Formats: sequence, C-alpha cells, structure tokens
Amino acid sequence: RSLELLQEALVECRRCDRLVAWREEVARVKRRAYRDETYWGRPIPGFGDPDATLILMGLAPAAHGGNRTGRMFTGDRSGDFLYAALHRAGVASQPTSVRRGDGLTLTGAFIVAPCRCAPPENKPTPAELAACRPWLEAELALLDRAHTYLALGKTGYDAVLTLAKKHGDISGTPAFAHGARGEIPDPRGGGGRAWLFGSYHVSQQNTQTGRLTAAMFDEVLGAALERARR
Ligand code: SF4
Repeated sequence: RSLELLQEALVECRRCDRLVAWREEVARVKRRAYRDETYWGRPIPGFGDPDATLILMGLAPAAHGGNRTGRMFTGDRSGDFLYAALHRAGVASQPTSVRRGDGLTLTGAFIVAPCRCAPPENKPTPAELAACRPWLEAELALLDRAHTYLALGKTGYDAVLTLAKKHGDISGTPAFAHGARGEIPDPRGGGGRAWLFGSYHVSQQNTQTGRLTAAMFDEVLGAALERARR
C-alpha cells in the first residue's frame, strides 16, 4: 500500500523544468504511428514484484515507449528485448509488454530507473539524476527483500554505486562493464551487503548492432538471478 502511495506522489512530480517540458511536448506532438493514443507524459513508477530480491536498474523512460504507455520498458524495442529475456528466465509472465493492463506480471524482480521522466536524447543531466534520486531511494526503501541489482548500462550502474557509497566503501567494486559484478554495501542502507551486476543497456542501439546479444544478456541475467534467489 505504501508503495502505491509513493508512486501516486511520484507521478505528480514536476521538479525538473527541462524534463517536464520535454515529456509533455513529446506527449502533445506524438509519433505518427501513435497519433490516436493518449500519451502518459508523466514520471514512470517502478514496476514488478514488491517482494523482489532482484532489482533491474534502467536509465530513463523512452519518449515513445514508457513516456507513451506509462510503464517501464513498455511499448518499445528495448522492452521487447528485455521482457523476452525475463520470460525465458521465468521472471515475466509473458514475453511482451505492450501496454499497462495487459496482464504482465513479474515474479522476484522489480524494475526501477534513476531518472523517471523521458529526457531529450535519452540523456538526463547530473542535476536531473540528483533531483530524481530521492524517489529512487524512497521506492527501494519499500522493497524490503531487495539485495541484488542488475544495472542496464553505466548510468544505472553508477546510480546503484552512488547509493551504496552512502552506506560504505565501494573502492573495491569494479567499474562498469558488461558482465562486471561485485559485492557492495546495501544501497538501501541498514549495514548489510548487496550484489551489483552490470549489463550493456537493452537499447536498440546495442541490440540491433550486436553489441548486446540475447545470449550475452541471458548469461548476466542468469548470474544475477542465481544470486538473487539465494
Ligand atoms: Fe521529478 Fe524525477 Fe521527473 Fe525530475 S526526473 S521531474 S525529479 S520524476
């Protein structure tokens, strides 16, 4: 219930002038293929299983994906790749994520992002990431069982490390790379330990060029899940 309350507050956030203007402009102009749809055009709450032990940390909503549908990685190519992999791994109830209310559920995993509004060129500024961090912290604080993080891209990886650093030493943690992994101070605080895994982002730029293949992603997802299920 408190997760719902937090998310109700999050979707009303207008803290970042540039991102509010962009998310609303994209929602107003629309892409031709979606011209009959009403875009979400607001911040995107986390999505998944509140009892998750695995947290997937993305980057930010896509202009015509999450910013259109209102759900993480939903309605775009990144989501097609990600949810197909989560379905293969037994985490997602279906391999596609088209719209909110399509029946998709996750078991054992929860998806968040360090920036909740679609940014121009998919690049939030450091100030915007800092402005959004309290939302991320507040959401993670409500996910009591989370202890393993799979970051999709360097921004997500560094977002986890920024939180972990508040609670301990991260000097031994490997820098971001695909397949990087290490034990970290629990980003949720409390003095415990957590695990962080890194993957290239599931963006079309990576998946269509072969920089990130389904096999590569399945390997790192499998390793993170194995840790998360212990
Ligand atoms: Fe609010 Fe985060 Fe969106 Fe900025 S990016 S307006 S802090 S929800």
